[in-house]
Amino acid sequence: MTDDVPKIPIVCPVCETRAKIPFSNVEETVTDHNERLHDGDPVAAVDPDVFDHLADQVAVDLGLLEG
Ligand SMILES: [Zn+2]
Repeated sequence: MTDDVPKIPIVCPVCETRAKIPFSNVEETVTDHNERLHDGDPVAAVDPDVFDHLADQVAVDLGLLEG
């Protein structure tokens, strides 16, 4: 097992929660948080600034920005 899975910051402006979640668990964690704490309202989400940055990183990793 390696520990090189990127951790993604999520933020919830309603309950002021901030947490770093392993990339593979982000969607599940955000959904679970919203369902348990906010009656399913989609208030918690990936930190938008980081998401933009991450999208760039993923694009680079996948070679989408080459050629
Ligand atoms: Zn919350």
